[in-house]
Amino acid sequence: MHYDGHMNVTFGCPHCEQPARLDVPDATQAIACPHCHAKLRFPPGAWSSGRLTRCVVCPSTDLFLRKDFPQSLGVAVVALGIVSSTIAYYFGHIYLTYGLLFACAAIDFVLYYVVGQALVCYRCQTHYRMLAGLDGHAPFNLETHERYRQEAARLSDRQNATAP
Ligand SMILES: [Zn+2]
Ligand SMILES: [Zn+2]
Repeated sequence: MHYDGHMNVTFGCPHCEQPARLDVPDATQAIACPHCHAKLRFPPGAWSSGRLTRCVVCPSTDLFLRKDFPQSLGVAVVALGIVSSTIAYYFGHIYLTYGLLFACAAIDFVLYYVVGQALVCYRCQTHYRMLAGLDGHAPFNLETHERYRQEAARLSDRQNATAP
């Protein structure tokens, strides 16, 4: 659907610390910050047979798959399924009732698996969207997330401790 050979990267630039969003070709070797034009190079081996295995910004190897479509859209689809099938049921259209429920479940499924997945870096929260080759990436893992959260907390403690 969106796999036209381009991906979308959303990141916080490590040089000017501004949020940035870029469309770049898949398997590109470097991206440039649109604000300060700093060049961020993908680490060697970041692309392994078309799959991204390392973050370009930080460059961690821990990335997870995240559901990435507006929560409200998913809720709206489910609500639409319930409301429309209830109306169909009320008027005695049994097949239509199940048809509507099934259609909305299918739409929800498609939103989840086709449209809405982003690869996210645990450490710096960079988002990679519309990326080909998402198979084999792990979903969010709380332990890994905790590890990075604690690492970040230790780092900021140390910075606070050494600050004048
Ligand atoms: Zn920048
Ligand atoms: Zn990162």
